[in-house]
Amino acid sequence: MKITEHFEKAKGDTLVSFEILPPLKGGSMKTIFDSLDPLMEFNPPFIDVTYHREEYIYNMRPSGYYEKTSIRKRPGTVGICASIMHRYGVDAIPHLICGGFSVEETENALIDLAFLGIDNVLALRGDARQFEDKFVPEVNGHKYASDLIKQIASMNKGAYLDANIENGANTDFCIGIAGYPEKHFEAPNLAQDIEYTKQKVAAGGDYIVTQMFFNNQNFFDYVKACKTAGIDVPIVPGLKPLTKKYQLNSIPRKFFVNMPEELVKEVEKAKGDQIKEVGIEWCIHQSQELKKAGVPCLHYYTMGDAETTKRIVSAL
Ligand code: FAD
Repeated sequence: MKITEHFEKAKGDTLVSFEILPPLKGGSMKTIFDSLDPLMEFNPPFIDVTYHREEYIYNMRPSGYYEKTSIRKRPGTVGICASIMHRYGVDAIPHLICGGFSVEETENALIDLAFLGIDNVLALRGDARQFEDKFVPEVNGHKYASDLIKQIASMNKGAYLDANIENGANTDFCIGIAGYPEKHFEAPNLAQDIEYTKQKVAAGGDYIVTQMFFNNQNFFDYVKACKTAGIDVPIVPGLKPLTKKYQLNSIPRKFFVNMPEELVKEVEKAKGDQIKEVGIEWCIHQSQELKKAGVPCLHYYTMGDAETTKRIVSAL
């Protein structure tokens, strides 16, 4: 079922959904099931599975020279989606990125997804590789998420890259896109970033999932600014609880989001296990306020920590 249909079916009730990461290569599906089994009592209509592109690593050869190798540390997104759908009977959403894919490879990946009965994707650009200072598209690949969205939307109309294919079977993907309440770090300003997000919606984006944020006002202002700009698709807040002190710096560095002064003060005051309690309480408060405001869904970045996510959702 399409994610937008889940929202319609909920008739204004706030749903709860989760995002998980594939395990590091060498890991098993058991780790995924162990992190999802405790959360299934909340009836998530869908579960997102992130996609991790290849990274370069440098190994020193006996000669003293470094050898550059490309590896994917967390493969398995599509297989995990299929397993989740099979085990729990809920929709699984693979994240699909531009980075590392030519348009041909993207088309083939979408054909696999359609054949597996997966009819939702979250379409993203992806980030620069480690050791690269900016995102570099693949040769004959997409530069922006909006280009990827256009390709998916074309396949939804039965148009494939090969112009010789006449009346190709049309896919039927519901397309999620990313949004940034505190702007994407490369965008010159929030208004321009929202303008590009509007282009993603015009290209075929059906709903927006946001980057994490710790101050709900940023989300409320963002939703208002999107509406003013003419974006009328559902906007789903992405939430992540802070559980460790070092995240006060690592989260802003990695995700380009601000930590509210009050949260920072409380975490600085807390000791040991209290830090996690502060983060959980903060996320519960955020969730309750967002739910009261009538958001279509609360989307949790679980990072495989079922216990923490369960405590937050149980409190709602
Ligand atoms: P885009 O929408 O293409 O935007 C990228 C930048 O380009 C922005 O600054 C935008 O303002 C600008 N821009 C857009 N269009 C234009 C244009 N026409 N001209 C000029 N500038 C333009 N990454 C992964 O690798 N795997 C994942 O599974 C993953 N999941 C994610 C889930 C969510 C909910 C979110 C919010 C992010 C996720 N990411 C993931 C990270 C994402 O790939 C990065 O944030 C990436 O840097 C941007 O992706 P995007 O789809 O927002 O890109």
